[in-house]
Amino acid sequence: MIDRDPTVVRVTTEAMFAGLRDSGLKITPQRAAIVRELAGDPSHPTAQEIFDRLRGSVPSMSFATVYNTLDALVRSGLCGALSLAPGATRFDANMHAHHHAVCDQCGMVRDVPREGPADLAARVPGFSVRAVERIYRGLCSECAGAAPPQPDPSH
Ligand SMILES: [Zn+2]
Ligand SMILES: [Zn+2]
Repeated sequence: MIDRDPTVVRVTTEAMFAGLRDSGLKITPQRAAIVRELAGDPSHPTAQEIFDRLRGSVPSMSFATVYNTLDALVRSGLCGALSLAPGATRFDANMHAHHHAVCDQCGMVRDVPREGPADLAARVPGFSVRAVERIYRGLCSECAGAAPPQPDPSH
């Protein structure tokens, strides 16, 4: 654990390798590169983004390998899968319970620390709460600073 931020609990690459082995997957150079890329990335990349970053440097990298590797990590509880926008699952190596802020314009995703120990179960009587996922939607500072294209009011 290298992060000092208590709201960030990064799963180590070693733990991810162990999880893949437990899932019956061999640690190939391709899978090792995917694990390293995800473990060191706080941006919540999609499978496509990871594939695009690695395809040039890792020989015979395929999108299917990226997808299957990430899927095995999610099923082993070693990374989170977020569906924040239709058709693009994002992967999250921060396994500390947290919320997310998503920019409407560029899609940037940021971790938001969870507030104090609220009695969440009491809010949904008769339901056993496994997780709470909250999404804050808005504009990141970069997009808020850039003037959006305005329609001409004279037409
Ligand atoms: Zn933005
Ligand atoms: Zn996150």
